[in-house]
Amino acid sequence: MATDLAKFAKDNGVKYFMISFTDLFGGQRAKLVPARAIADMQEDGAGFAGFATWLDLTPAHPDMLAVPDPEAVIILPWNKEIAWVPANCVMEDQPVEQAPRNVLCRLIDEAAAEGMHVKTGIEAEFFLLTPEGDQISDPYDTAAKPCYDQQAFMRRLDVIREISDHMLELGWNPYQNDHEDANGQWEMNWDFDDALKTADKHSFFKFMAKCVAEKHGFRATFMPKPIEGLTGNGCHAHISVWDAPGDKSKTNVFAGEGEGQTGEVGLSERGKHFLGGIMKHASALAAITNPTVNSYKRINAPRTTSGATWAPNTVTWTGNNRTHMVRVPGPGRFELRLPDGAANPYLLQAVIIAAGLSGIRSKADPGKRHDIDMYAEGHTITDAPKLPLNMLDALRAYDSDSGLKDAMGAEFSAAYLKMKRQEWNDFTSHFSSWEKANTLDI
Ligand SMILES: [Mg+2]
Repeated sequence: MATDLAKFAKDNGVKYFMISFTDLFGGQRAKLVPARAIADMQEDGAGFAGFATWLDLTPAHPDMLAVPDPEAVIILPWNKEIAWVPANCVMEDQPVEQAPRNVLCRLIDEAAAEGMHVKTGIEAEFFLLTPEGDQISDPYDTAAKPCYDQQAFMRRLDVIREISDHMLELGWNPYQNDHEDANGQWEMNWDFDDALKTADKHSFFKFMAKCVAEKHGFRATFMPKPIEGLTGNGCHAHISVWDAPGDKSKTNVFAGEGEGQTGEVGLSERGKHFLGGIMKHASALAAITNPTVNSYKRINAPRTTSGATWAPNTVTWTGNNRTHMVRVPGPGRFELRLPDGAANPYLLQAVIIAAGLSGIRSKADPGKRHDIDMYAEGHTITDAPKLPLNMLDALRAYDSDSGLKDAMGAEFSAAYLKMKRQEWNDFTSHFSSWEKANTLDI
């Protein structure tokens, strides 16, 4: 039986619920609802004027209702009278097809109908900046290779420890935290889970990191490339597929010794075809996994001050080697290193499932494994496509990939392309200091 949120409030001393949904750009929008009103909201949803959200709705549309998913409710560990609850968007009793959490739920159901339950873990890297967002918060964090810097870690221990404590309390099984490869950059890891649970945790993690950072006078950002010349914020996804969801899963259907080069690294035939779908749709799915103008400054970056970008620029896969778009670190799973910190938590999971399912249905071949150092020898690869160079190329690749567009849903794809093209046009009409500096004397 579904959790009764009114009773949940009474039992846990919750005074308010933050009913939250995620728009097409990955922004979280919410209403704060007193516990006295939650019973009705649980039934009917909280009302929003759709036009005011980035969901491609007009002022003439009726109310959009965000119906909370009671099984996903989380009490804020830093403010226990408030509970955050992700919601599914509904209009006139029908799901809003383009709403990201609905897109993911539909794809999870489709995969389940084929006996597949995708589980993922994500690595949501972030920077701690000054509140204005223009500088690293720690002025002493200046090493050329700052990854795992113990002393810099101690100067931000209060922030990282607090977030880690919260994850321990929430039962996410966090297991490690580190100073990442860029000055001011962090990574915190917790256990993998079913795709929807990971998407909700990913959303909540971003919210939590920002709130805790603000409390300490800093600003947490997941922007793909917030500081020129430094490593960007990736959001690597570790993907496996199981026979059942949650605790019922027993068999990893990706694990096995399939044929060929994927079999050698421990992927079953289904694992191979799922990976084949990711490879086949890579340029198009970049429109989702790398959704901003800034995203392409991470994946097509020149060498950073640490010596490596840790981001791919070519559609290649390999064994346990971090210089490729896909790494198979061990049997039964693979790591997609393409996504960045701007990826919408729900659409990220959705596009992985959509591309993977398409690969399984078409028995897609991931192609040849490349076991080279892509950072040093990438120029020698001539048989693999380059990833899109900018957001417009990615949107065009998405638009011309009818298989992926259909799998993500026609309404979603049309709305997403429309909104993102508007954003691109807004960007290109922006008058930059670069063009003045490079054109004034022509
Ligand atoms: Mg990392």
